[in-house]
Amino acid sequence: MSNNALFYLTSDDMPVVSHADGIYIWDTKGRRYIDGCSGAITCNIGHNHPTVKRAMAEQLDKIAFSYRTQFESQVALDLADRLVDLTDGDLDKVFFVGSGSEAVESAIKLAVQYFVAKEQPERCKFVSLRPSYHGSTMGALGLTGYEPLEAPYRSITIGSVKVPSPDLYRYKETSIEEHITSVLEQTEKAILAAGAETIAAVVLEPVGGASTGGRIVTKRYMEGLRALCDRYGCLLIMDEVLSGMGRTGAWFAYQHFGVVPDILALAKGLGSGYYPIAAMMARKELVDVVGRSGGFMHGHTYAGNPLACATGLAVIDVMESEQLVSNSLKQGSYLRQQLEQLALKYDCIGNVRGIGLLQGVELVRDKTTKEPYPAAFNAFAKITSLAKDRGLLIYPRRCLNGLAGDHVLITPPLTVTVADIDEIITLLDESLA
Ligand code: PMP
Repeated sequence: MSNNALFYLTSDDMPVVSHADGIYIWDTKGRRYIDGCSGAITCNIGHNHPTVKRAMAEQLDKIAFSYRTQFESQVALDLADRLVDLTDGDLDKVFFVGSGSEAVESAIKLAVQYFVAKEQPERCKFVSLRPSYHGSTMGALGLTGYEPLEAPYRSITIGSVKVPSPDLYRYKETSIEEHITSVLEQTEKAILAAGAETIAAVVLEPVGGASTGGRIVTKRYMEGLRALCDRYGCLLIMDEVLSGMGRTGAWFAYQHFGVVPDILALAKGLGSGYYPIAAMMARKELVDVVGRSGGFMHGHTYAGNPLACATGLAVIDVMESEQLVSNSLKQGSYLRQQLEQLALKYDCIGNVRGIGLLQGVELVRDKTTKEPYPAAFNAFAKITSLAKDRGLLIYPRRCLNGLAGDHVLITPPLTVTVADIDEIITLLDESLA
């Protein structure tokens, strides 16, 4: 066997994974890595958790898969109720899918079907932010504001009206308040230019993840966006695929701003790496309107299967019994302080940002002018590789064509302790040095 059939095999020296426990992963050569980014900001409760393994084994003993048009499953009903209890407002309906992209795709489709059912079929355009990341399927990619990913498909994706994302690091105005005013004005102008009556929804990540390296927005921005949606009759969709499920020190990042979306997309932390499960949550009114006109036309074979839902339930049980949401806020603020100490020590750290255990570090060539490294320098890849050599995993993202600098995310499992964070910081410090 040649062992090179895997499409995405990127390098010959890629370690082969062996096993994991808590925040550590081992490769087949016996090297230990500290998981400073929860894989892809996914393994929120850490690896190899006995409660989840037990719940999955118990479900496997009963039934792994049943199809939702033939049977309902108690675990799906229970998980939907638990998610509704954790959210606010009237986000009362849950549709399970298998990945973040599918959750966003489902949100797009629900918004479109809602307006078709309301006899407003012209409302089929979306407004999204640049930079942003919403997934790899064609609909979600159409919303994604990240040039290199969008470009090849521009003529065949649904596309979206792209508006600037608030940038609390590189803003040009004299204050953050003025910057937010300007971004909201540009957003409103873009909505009007596209024809407000044609907009189905504005879509955003309340705290940026892979695309922006943990960029945050302000409460006034969120309130302003909500007001624009209400004024022009379109929906507000929040993509919390990455920021949801306790990552930012609240169950959902929107809770920091007190602005509730009409549709919410969740994934990553919901299955916490144990099983691919994601969800689209929506206001009951949307689902009722679509229901009256024949029901939501959308589905995935594995959507809401019993094994997936049993996993999601066990993950929430662990998060509650170990108080991981409050630990995320507490340890996130310790992590932030330590990263800011590193920023004082190293000129290449331009900005540290984020909330809870979603912390981003932006690397710049010039700290004073905030000039990014040239894209070809691959600063993000260099630091990630130096960290991996030292046994630390961090999540890299490249310079976004001048939109922002290279950045890395430091997003360990929500179970981390002060001692774990100290270990991460020591290894990061050595890598930067
Ligand atoms: N939205 C956001 C904000 C994400 O971070 C991601 C994944 N990085 C996705 C959507 C897509 O999720 P998936 O890779 O599970 O399809």
